[in-house]
Amino acid sequence: MPAFRAALLYFQPDLQAVYEPDGLLVTAPNEHGIEVVQAVGSWASLKASFGHLPVQHLSGRLLAPGFVDLHLHYPQVDVIGSPAEGLLPWLENYTFVQEARFTDPLHARAVAEFFLDELQRHGVTTALSFCSSHPSSVHALFEASEQRGLRIIAGKCLMDRHAPDGVRDHTEQSLEDTEALIQRWHGRGRLGYAITPRFVPTCSDAQLAGAGELARRYPDVWVQSHVAENKDEIAWVKALHPQARSYLAVYERFGLLRPRSIYAHCIHLDDTDRALLRDTGAAAAVSPTSNLFLGSGFFDYAAAERVGHLYGLASDVGGGTSFSPFHTMMAAYYVGREGQTKPGLSLTPAQLWAQHTAGAARALGLEGVVGNLLPGCEADFLVLNPAATPLLARKTAAASNLDELLFSLIVLGDDRVVERTVLAGQPGRGLAQP
Ligand SMILES: [Zn+2]
Repeated sequence: MPAFRAALLYFQPDLQAVYEPDGLLVTAPNEHGIEVVQAVGSWASLKASFGHLPVQHLSGRLLAPGFVDLHLHYPQVDVIGSPAEGLLPWLENYTFVQEARFTDPLHARAVAEFFLDELQRHGVTTALSFCSSHPSSVHALFEASEQRGLRIIAGKCLMDRHAPDGVRDHTEQSLEDTEALIQRWHGRGRLGYAITPRFVPTCSDAQLAGAGELARRYPDVWVQSHVAENKDEIAWVKALHPQARSYLAVYERFGLLRPRSIYAHCIHLDDTDRALLRDTGAAAAVSPTSNLFLGSGFFDYAAAERVGHLYGLASDVGGGTSFSPFHTMMAAYYVGREGQTKPGLSLTPAQLWAQHTAGAARALGLEGVVGNLLPGCEADFLVLNPAATPLLARKTAAASNLDELLFSLIVLGDDRVVERTVLAGQPGRGLAQP
């Protein structure tokens, strides 16, 4: 049983943060052979039971749960930082052009490897990603993820209309491909499949209905899509579905709101929509760097808390501007300050961190599996160096409580802080060894 002695950060089931300045983390394989947390707590309380183990003493380091990214697009690695007036021209001028290249399996595999390197470098151990509309793009990502032991949930993008040649698919074939991909990949090792209608404007009614039927037949498969990101997009949905009460209600009509369904953005919702998320168990993937970059608007944290639906943080690469969970948490803090129905809401550093770990895992239906270091959770954890840069060293040395320490990391941190990314007990390939 490996044991690690260092400062520890994890979360109670109510998402309250726990900090142990001198903690011990012990891992062991579970009955399926996956390395999980056996014990976590202060060194003083655990040394009698586990002190005889060979303990790795990681002096000056902070052990924290691997980050969970609720929404991003691996085929958009090369789209990051592309200038556009807003969502729809950005899709047409950059995104669809790049995604069309994923019909080539060699290109898909090369980008998948680069993408997964970035996730690991930035400390992301679980991610829900779009692929392109080509099944080969899904195979490439899952094959690469399986070799590394990352927990990746992904799916072939469904888009049978209002999209150019090269990325548009065919209704019947797209649904057959989706089912074949579910059967091949879902539940294999740590991999999961997500039924992936791109968004309402690019999916015919028949395609949405077929996706909903698959979601009903495979209840433990995930669903991922986009909703209420941009006002032009919402007007387009209104024109296509004039009878629908709202954009979100279109997904409901087709059976696509249920537990394990994750909707990116959820900016321009009303409380009836929010109650629909809450009552169906669907979750919002809050994507603040993307929303600020594309000028889409501000996720309403105060309203989400008031109504009480699930949500968590996402990078939304390549609309998002960074793979770094630190940058995403920083942007979420700005969003929490602006554009709220209750002005001046201030998210605490521990709340921001929970939204990218244990809270995001709960949104995925993976509470107690990932995103935390409570006993039984898979041993996905990070070795963080709070003194990774001169300014961080200066700031974190002066921190007098957990909020000050975490906020220094959120504001000043990036991939330099992530010294090691451990996946189910195994240090990830290509990353620094102890
Ligand atoms: Zn997206």
